Amino acid sequence: MKKYAVILAAGIGSRLYPITEIMPKSLVKVNGREIVDYQIQGYIKAGIKEEDISIVTGYRTPQFREFLLKNYPKVNIIENKDYLSTNNMYSLYMALKYIHDNKPDFDNLFINNADCLYDENMMFEFVNCEYESAIASEAGTFIDESMKIVVDKNKRIIDIAKTITKEKAYAVSIDLYKYSKNATDELYKIVCDFIEIKKDLKQWSEIAFPFLFKKVDVFPFDIKHKKWVEVDNMEDLLTADKKFSTFDYKSKKAYICDLDGTLFMGNEPITPAINFVKNNSNIFDFYFLTNNTSKTPDKYVQKLNNAGIPCKISQILTPLYPLIEYLKKYKSIYLVSNKEITSFIKENLPDINIEYDYNTNEAIVLTYDTEIDYSKMKNISVLLNNKKNIEYIATHADTFCPTEKGNIPDIGSFIELIKLTTSETPDTTFGKPSINLIKHIIEKYGEKNLAIAGDRLYTDMQLAINSNIDFITVLSGETSRFDVAKNNSCKFVYKNLGEITD
Ligand SMILES: [Mg+2]
Repeated sequence: MKKYAVILAAGIGSRLYPITEIMPKSLVKVNGREIVDYQIQGYIKAGIKEEDISIVTGYRTPQFREFLLKNYPKVNIIENKDYLSTNNMYSLYMALKYIHDNKPDFDNLFINNADCLYDENMMFEFVNCEYESAIASEAGTFIDESMKIVVDKNKRIIDIAKTITKEKAYAVSIDLYKYSKNATDELYKIVCDFIEIKKDLKQWSEIAFPFLFKKVDVFPFDIKHKKWVEVDNMEDLLTADKKFSTFDYKSKKAYICDLDGTLFMGNEPITPAINFVKNNSNIFDFYFLTNNTSKTPDKYVQKLNNAGIPCKISQILTPLYPLIEYLKKYKSIYLVSNKEITSFIKENLPDINIEYDYNTNEAIVLTYDTEIDYSKMKNISVLLNNKKNIEYIATHADTFCPTEKGNIPDIGSFIELIKLTTSETPDTTFGKPSINLIKHIIEKYGEKNLAIAGDRLYTDMQLAINSNIDFITVLSGETSRFDVAKNNSCKFVYKNLGEITD
C-alpha cells in the first residue's frame, strides 16, 4: 500500500500572537519539539516515507525551509504564496493538484491541519486502520471550538462542521483525514469546482467534505481518548505543554526550587506550587534557592514554615554561604549590605574589617543592599576609580526582583549604575547561574536524580544547563510563554510548579 501525507500549514495563526509574529504556529516548540515535528514523526513511524510527505506553507515559508532542510530534507514544500487572500481549502487544492499531477500511484492520502499535536501510537493505528476512508475522531466528547461529525445509522459520516449541536454530534474531529485513491479523486473534483469554477478562494477545507460524503463512504475512526491538542490560542498551547510533557516527576529524588516567582510572588505564596512541596515533602527532598542577599537564610526558613512547608536551614541555598567561604582570605573589605546582612557577615567572619577604609580595603562586596544610599555608591566609585587591584565582588547579578506589586531594583541595577559611573563590572559573583551554589547537592544526589524549578531563564535555567540537570520552567513569575518560544533550551514548561503532577 502506497501512502501519501499532506500537512496544511500556510496560515498565520494570529490567535497565538505575539509568538506567531516571529514564527509560524506549527514551528512553536512543545516539550522541546516543533508542533509539526509530532506530525511528521507520527507519519514516518506509521510507515509513510519522508519523501511521501508534503507541507503546504505560506506564512514564513523560509523558516519551514530551514527547519525541513535540517531535519527532514526529503519532505516536499508546496508554497501557497497567496495565503493572505485565501483559506486552507486553497492550500488543499494546491496539494491535491500536486498529487494529481505528480503522484498518480498512491492508495491512501492522509491530510491534517498543522496546528495539532497527536499521540504517535494513535497516528500509527489510524494510518494503518482497516477503513479506506476515515476521519480520526474522539467519540463521546464535545468541544464547542472543534469540528464535529454526524453519522447515519450505518455509521457512515454524513456531515462535518463546527456548528453541529451536541445532540447531533457523534464525535469531535481531530483534523486528521484518510482518503482512498477514489475518494481523493472525487475530493479533487469538488475542490476544483470551488476554486477553478466558482473562484471561491476563501473557503475552509471542511466545506468540501460533506459533498464527498455523498459520493464515498467515510467512517469515524475512534482515537479512544488518546492524547491530542489543537493549538489555537495561548491557553491551548499551555495545555499542550502539560499533556505532551515527558517530564517524569516521580523519577527524581530531590527538587531545587527557586523562591521568588516560583513559590512566592513577593510575600504572596503561589498556592499550587506551595501545595506541591507540602504534599510531597515526605517523598522528595527539597532545597530552596534564592539569589536574594537582602535576607538571611533563617528568614527564608521562617517564610517557608509560615507557608506550611517544613524546612531546615540546611535546605536554603543562598550566595551568602559561598561568599563567606571566599572572604576568609581577606582582612579588610568594604561590605555594602543592609543591617540584617551586616550582622550575619560579622557573626560568620568576626576577624575581618567590613567598614569602608580607603587605605586597607582589599575588596568591595556588594550584596542586595535594601538600604543602599548615595554615600555607599560614592565609596564604591572612589575605591574602583583609584585602587586598581581591588577585587569587586557582587553576590549575584539579577537586575530586578519580581514582587506582587511589580518589579523592584535588585543588585544588577546597582551594578549598572556603578558601571555607568566607573566603567567597572564585578570580578566575581556567587549566585545563580554559578554551579558553586549547588555543588554539594549534586555530589549527594547526582545530576539525573535532581530537577531545578524556576521562573528566570538567565539564572535558574542557566544554572540547570551549567550543571546538566533537568529544568522546569514555571510561568508563575517573570517568564512568559513568548519568552519560552524565543528560547531554544526550554523543554518542560508549566503554568506553575503545582502542574507537574497532573
Ligand atoms: Mg525567581
